Amino acid sequence: MAKKNEIFCSFCGRSEREVKLLMPGLNGCICDECAERAHEIANEYLNKQMQLSVQDLDLDKLPKPHEIKAYLDEYVIGQETAKKYLSVAVYNHYKRLLQDHDDDIDIEKSNIIIVGPTGTGKTLLAKTIAKLLKVPFAIVDATVLTEAGYVGEDIESLLTRLLQACDYNVKEAERGIVFIDEIDKIARKGDNPSITRDVSGEGVQQGLLKLLEGSVVNVPPQGGRKHPEQKMIAVDTKNILFICGGAFEGIERKIALRLNTHVVGYGAGNRISKIERERMLRFVAPQDLRAYGLIPEIIGRLPIVTNLEPLDRDALKRILTEPKNAIVKQYHKLFKMENIELKIEDAVLDFVVDKSIEFKLGARGLRSIFETIMIEAMYDVPSTKVKKFVLTLDYAKEQFSKSNFEDRGV
Ligand code: ADP
Repeated sequence: MAKKNEIFCSFCGRSEREVKLLMPGLNGCICDECAERAHEIANEYLNKQMQLSVQDLDLDKLPKPHEIKAYLDEYVIGQETAKKYLSVAVYNHYKRLLQDHDDDIDIEKSNIIIVGPTGTGKTLLAKTIAKLLKVPFAIVDATVLTEAGYVGEDIESLLTRLLQACDYNVKEAERGIVFIDEIDKIARKGDNPSITRDVSGEGVQQGLLKLLEGSVVNVPPQGGRKHPEQKMIAVDTKNILFICGGAFEGIERKIALRLNTHVVGYGAGNRISKIERERMLRFVAPQDLRAYGLIPEIIGRLPIVTNLEPLDRDALKRILTEPKNAIVKQYHKLFKMENIELKIEDAVLDFVVDKSIEFKLGARGLRSIFETIMIEAMYDVPSTKVKKFVLTLDYAKEQFSKSNFEDRGV
């Protein structure tokens, strides 16, 4: 018999003794199980609504490769080839999604692999293109992946991010784009297949192959490792475009070997500058990826191979000033917000670039060096009445030498 003052779930009628939790509302209560069920129903409904509201792609309204590249140009300096390849790949991806199937011709997808030294704009390219895309997009890192049974993440978890990017709307995710960074980290070490087990190598590549080929895979909704009690989400990867990126450090040796040049060989190589070695990358071909340790099946599924150029002095200087949100523009904005005019001597830009090269930091170092130079000014100037601040070369040098930048081991 119900006790006096006992409260019940207004949905299933169970009493507070029969459930784990009973939450009171204005005119009734709801138990934990009913709340969970309600959540599921709401999600299903919202997902359906979203599918209905997803605007279908219209080729006439989509940006053309030229427009995509022009957009990339606003943020990424140089890297003309990679930008062109990416623009075409994205546009063709749309076309593929829109193709009709009343003839026997099936436009196959063209996954891409971008080879380039670190800090030359791979991630920046991916992030920039993401802003323009009309399909879900996710950037994932291949370094966390390991073969099932080992510590690390299952290959299928690469798609978790994509699902999250579209609020778990599976239909949308199935036409998305995934950028897999650091793909070189899953390359087999050494040219010949090893008989010993290679956790980070071939097993992972086989798993990745399944995704690239196009198949229905079970994705753990929260990523990480799959476990038996977890409810999986089935995702068909047939229409998902994969863009892979990696530094492939040392691949220029394989390229040189194939081209039968000895510029990167021992001895001669020492006299060749790093930039020149990296320029070999423009000749990168599928065979080199194979020699580096990617299995042929994976290479076959990444038919477009392109590269990023190393950034020379000129490119680094342009990165400081030209992109839409260039570092220099950001400082101008910071000062302008206090009605202070900031003037930066051109020589300061050269100094920052030189230091970045000296410390082998490339484009990544530009900001921290600038920050080091500006910290005192940004600390002092807002408390003064100055209306103009001129950043001279002498000031920059003085601030930099005071900063113990070198000792910080940056
Ligand atoms: P990675 O190739 O290692 O992915 P990133 O794209 O992360 O390199 O580049 C690191 C940083 O350097 C970026 O955030 C960006 O500020 C700058 N940068 C690198 N390359 C370029 C480039 N080509 N144009 C403009 N900025 C760049």
